[in-house]
Amino acid sequence: MTVEVFKELEKSILPNEFNKYIKKLALDKTLSKPSFIVFKTSNLLMAKFIQTKYAETLSEIYAKKTGIKPEIIITTNEKKLNLKDKKTAKKDLEKPNSTILIESYNFSNFIVGDSNRFAYECSKSVAKNPGKDFNPLFIYGPSGLGKTHLLQSIGNFCIENGKIVICVTSEQFMNDFQFHIRNQTMDKFRLKYRKTDLLLVDDIQFLGNTKGEKTQEEFFNTFNELRQAGGQIVMTSDKPPKILKGFEERLLSRFESGIITDITPPELETKIAIIKKKSEDNKIVLSSKIIEYIATNMGDNIREIESAINKLNAFSNLMRSEITLEFTKSVLQDQIREKKESVTINDVIETISKELNIKPSDIKSKSRRKNIVEARRIGIYLSKKLTINSMPAIASFFGLKDHSAVSHNIRKIKELMDEDGFLKIRVEELENKILKGKNSE
Ligand code: ADP
Ligand code: MG
Repeated sequence: MTVEVFKELEKSILPNEFNKYIKKLALDKTLSKPSFIVFKTSNLLMAKFIQTKYAETLSEIYAKKTGIKPEIIITTNEKKLNLKDKKTAKKDLEKPNSTILIESYNFSNFIVGDSNRFAYECSKSVAKNPGKDFNPLFIYGPSGLGKTHLLQSIGNFCIENGKIVICVTSEQFMNDFQFHIRNQTMDKFRLKYRKTDLLLVDDIQFLGNTKGEKTQEEFFNTFNELRQAGGQIVMTSDKPPKILKGFEERLLSRFESGIITDITPPELETKIAIIKKKSEDNKIVLSSKIIEYIATNMGDNIREIESAINKLNAFSNLMRSEITLEFTKSVLQDQIREKKESVTINDVIETISKELNIKPSDIKSKSRRKNIVEARRIGIYLSKKLTINSMPAIASFFGLKDHSAVSHNIRKIKELMDEDGFLKIRVEELENKILKGKNSE
């Protein structure tokens, strides 16, 4: 896989850059996993340079090829890294294509809490009785909350029970389709996708970019024929079918025709349980104080939490240092922006009100005026990000029904920020102003 990733990167940078920096990187197989990849190079300076300049691009290329976006760490050969979990790391890497199925994703190592219980139960039920009650199963939620983990768990469970399973990202489905079209081997494509017991499609939202193209039509036909033949379909997505963009209506109604379940951000206890489990699985000793620190200060994305744990471990091996709270804070300073207990929702509202010239009572009102709706969304988003209030607490403060309304508003403003760079900058400025106001107290 690394060779393919390097080849892809080579296309976009200068030949001498490639030869000087990338070509000489050596994969550290013992420390690397699909979600955390360690490369070594000759010296620390070089490592730092490559880390800043190429790590993100490398990570994106891996994501495209494997469906998993790894954290990339470039380090140096100068000190010896400890070996750990040699066997499993190697096994993962030797898999020809990790999108097929990652063995380490299974039901038994999935931590269940209120935020994911229904999705977990539905997945288990589908795995035990594919093609029966819940068909299709549609799981949606923000990134990093375990959708792929559940999808792959279904796959692994069914393979063990002798079923034929195809697990692809929607991008892979598209590529596969185009490949067979080009080679005039559509009969093979159809045989493959319609003779399976389970078809698992990860991140179906990306199929929405192909409206009007033949891929959606092919997926529609695959879906219908497979289901008629008793095959099970499971899809994951970042949004519910209702608000998915770029899909033909008839496909959306198919997505809605089975069971739909979401995964919401984990509650603190679930987060703590996950951190405990992940550190135990990786044989990393973290005190309960450190676990709590990570759980309360990092965001809700479990993938990011996982890579923070891996980073802690790699750095503690590298520097031969024990993992103390101070060490944790310094290693994770880029990932963690400590939530200040002192920042309150009122601080958030006050700053937004002053900067955007909207009355605090309007921000908390139910007004649908565009600028007020936007200010309210920013307020909800920043309250979640900067204060230690729980989702239900934020909901009640802003007069929303429940925590899922908070999630919805946060998702919406994030989407808008992705589309509108200026909005993003404005929100970041507000964030800085709120924090500054607190620091100068
Ligand atoms: P998504 O597909 O929703 O973006 P993933 O399934 O890739 O998220 O999850 C990101 C990482 O977090 C994975 O390594 C996964 O194992 C881990 N993870 C997420 N939720 C849980 C959970 N409830 N228990 C254990 N691990 C989890
Ligand atoms: Mg995923």
